[in-house]
Amino acid sequence: MQLLDGKKLTAEMKQEIASEVAAFKAAGGKTPHLAAILVGHDGGSETYVAGKVKACAEVGIKSTLVRFEEQVTEKELLLKIAAMNDDADIDGLIVQLPLPPHIAERHVIEAIDIRKDVDGFHPMNIGRMVIGIPSYLSATPAGILEILKRYNIPTAGKSCVVVGRSNIVGKPVSILLSRKGYPGDATVTLCHSRTVNLKDITRQADILIAAMGKPEFIRADMVKEGAVVIDVGITRMKSEVTKSGWKLIGDVKFDEVAPHCSYITPVPGGVGLLTVVALLKNTLLSAKKTIYP
Ligand code: NDP
Repeated sequence: MQLLDGKKLTAEMKQEIASEVAAFKAAGGKTPHLAAILVGHDGGSETYVAGKVKACAEVGIKSTLVRFEEQVTEKELLLKIAAMNDDADIDGLIVQLPLPPHIAERHVIEAIDIRKDVDGFHPMNIGRMVIGIPSYLSATPAGILEILKRYNIPTAGKSCVVVGRSNIVGKPVSILLSRKGYPGDATVTLCHSRTVNLKDITRQADILIAAMGKPEFIRADMVKEGAVVIDVGITRMKSEVTKSGWKLIGDVKFDEVAPHCSYITPVPGGVGLLTVVALLKNTLLSAKKTIYP
């Protein structure tokens, strides 16, 4: 079994992005700028946004964090997004999800200028991804592709099972892996909570991607011998042994599953780290006007 080491890949990729940012600036380009909006004080969201801001600083990308209290109205939020869309200095604009229930996520996502939608959640970017024209790939699926590429894991003709069909992970990664080319050309099965005999399906997978948010749901008897297992799940659970009082648990029961895999991602230290790097990459692409000239 080989660990798909998100930490190592992230360090490598941050160095590459930092060099690219420096070269872009040296050639007269602007400092790439990522702006994030955070509504409320959810612990998980605070952690994710802080991680994104820190990562920007590490690679020379400017970041701005705009905070709103939980009670902000949808209209106020949309007005701020419109102003940030018009701000020529901002290259990437993200709104940390989830949002409070009185705000429609769809309205917020659709309000972001597609040229600044570095999370790749806008229906226009998703549509472009589906038909294979340049678009911002949403960060977590992009991170998964990067892991497969950098470890040279073959995907053509492989049976790939994705468990979870969310718009931000399961659905897009299933489409990306079934596209022509590498990493793709896989035969993909997309499973969800209504799938019957899930275990029989996951046991067929050469590549198994778990994106459910169900801690340690995937057990050894659900995995084919020698499979590649990508664990996207992150559930924050209270812990008495960590300093923070929290620990992160994946969707895969790691100790039990790992001995049966050829490759596996850990949680933490796997896909989550790559997600942040994919966001940095998209922000740089936006500053360079690569996707939308
Ligand atoms: P959602 O909650 O939006 O979707 C969960 C999916 O899992 C749904 O499609 C659901 O099916 C399916 N599911 C739930 N229970 C079962 C079950 N028993 N059997 C089969 N399928 C099931 O999740 P997200 O995609 O947003 O997130 C999934 C996990 O990934 C979470 O832990 C989240 O924190 C993590 N995550 C990690 C990221 C990273 O950077 N690494 C980024 C984004 C998410 P149905 O559609 O039928 O309800």
